[in-house]
Amino acid sequence: MNKIKNYINGNITCDSTDYLDVIDPSKGEKISEVVLSNKKDFDNAVKSSFESQLKWANITPLKRSRIMSNYKTLIEENINDLAKIVSLEHGKTLDDAKGSVTRGLEVVEFACGIPHLLKGEFSQNVGSNIDSFSIRQPLGICAGITPFNFPAMVPMWMYPISIACGNSFILKPSEKDPSCAIKLAELFTEAGLPDGVFNVINGDKQIVDKILNSNIISSVSFVGSTPVAKYIYETASKNMKRVQALGGAKNHLVVMPDANIDQAVDGIIGAAYGSAGERCMAVSVAVAVGDIADTLVNKINNKAQTLKVAPWTDLSSEMGPLISKEHLDKVKNYIEVGIQEGAKLVLDGRDLKIQGYENGFFVGPTLFDNVTEKMKIYNEEIFGPVLSIVRVKNYEDALKLVNDHPFGNGTSIYTSDGEVSRNFTTNSKIGMVGVNVPIPVPMAFHSFGGWKQSLFGDYAMHGTEGINFYTKLKTITTRWPKSIQSGPEFVMPTN
Ligand code: NAD
Repeated sequence: MNKIKNYINGNITCDSTDYLDVIDPSKGEKISEVVLSNKKDFDNAVKSSFESQLKWANITPLKRSRIMSNYKTLIEENINDLAKIVSLEHGKTLDDAKGSVTRGLEVVEFACGIPHLLKGEFSQNVGSNIDSFSIRQPLGICAGITPFNFPAMVPMWMYPISIACGNSFILKPSEKDPSCAIKLAELFTEAGLPDGVFNVINGDKQIVDKILNSNIISSVSFVGSTPVAKYIYETASKNMKRVQALGGAKNHLVVMPDANIDQAVDGIIGAAYGSAGERCMAVSVAVAVGDIADTLVNKINNKAQTLKVAPWTDLSSEMGPLISKEHLDKVKNYIEVGIQEGAKLVLDGRDLKIQGYENGFFVGPTLFDNVTEKMKIYNEEIFGPVLSIVRVKNYEDALKLVNDHPFGNGTSIYTSDGEVSRNFTTNSKIGMVGVNVPIPVPMAFHSFGGWKQSLFGDYAMHGTEGINFYTKLKTITTRWPKSIQSGPEFVMPTN
């Protein structure tokens, strides 16, 4: 049985003998074991991160950028292997896995520009013969804790930028699909990254708690569910770390009566059921405004029934399984709860069986109509292929619905009215907003982050926010002795 260990100081290694099963979600079978690291593993990771960072920070940004550029090439060359690792352990379709690695690769590409991105500001003569400039310096050791649903992309939102800024980085991937992180670390070494600058440590809450309580780790980047994000934010902040903790979501897509309905339906189908709804930017609520509702529900229902649900090895698959048996049971339970709450179950995915994959964690596309604000299936994140339709009378009610929801990750509106669109982008209390775009995920050179219960902390991921998160600002004011001789000053200088 394949044993997945840690990647510390350029070596595959671990001290702990405690392992957890890794399951292939398409078959429901154990495929490998991942180590649950112990204190010694953690201490080794921290020691190597500390020692390597001191040297790494002194390497010029241009040289760091060249290593990053080699890394980009290696990821491109290995993209098919990386995607297969993601699909095997996560279950998502191969094309989708490849797309997700590409979105991570774009952050590496962004980080190649680090000499430019780290440029500070300079002002000559802020006072007589006095100049002032600002620089951004690395934090030291940064850590990242990541979720199962994007085992390549989400870690790559973090470590390429952190490392390009001169930090070392310790990644704690999800224990459900840990192999991709090890492969990404090996490729980074091959690209020329000095040993210890990027370490991967596997494990569960125990390792996370060691990260949160370490007095040598400077920052924590987290992506995962809201209750854990809250815990990470509170604990790491109490321990004086810089924290960005991204949580769960309940993304609404508003369909106005003047929308191009077929475009909206296509957008909804991909965004609600792609990756089996296990995306933080998945659309889980479609808000039907005015008299468009009946047509919208019929069209979504018809199209959802044609989706091909199959394992990733079937290249025509459009939707794979959920991540675990436990999660499958949870999603099925939400469907039962929705029925009991009085929502109308238009399409039920619970009885789906795939020949040869009867033990896989599959559930088909599911559609509820007449969902209301009071229902549990409306308020909670289901994280599966379950779409709720909420019917509202007008635009104002739709906006209120979006804004009253505790989550604030993404939202979108389909309309052909520029004024409504502008009102929505201005007044929605959500971090990422789309107009006639179902999943408005920002590119690497912009920043990714939600509002409200979807992000705790002041910084979003990647883009300029990423550079600012992984560096400290220093402003330096200089005057040279021969310039002007003045006596002591007791009042604030006024230039
Ligand atoms: P999760 O919160 O269960 O786990 C995330 C990470 O935290 C894992 O590495 C896990 O080992 C660790 N962890 C789990 N429980 C912990 C605990 N009690 N204490 C300390 N650490 C703990 O999330 P998941 O199930 O892996 O991922 C799905 C969730 O992630 C969904 O809620 C989804 O919306 C969210 N997500 C959010 C974004 C975003 O950008 N906002 C992106 C991707 C996923």
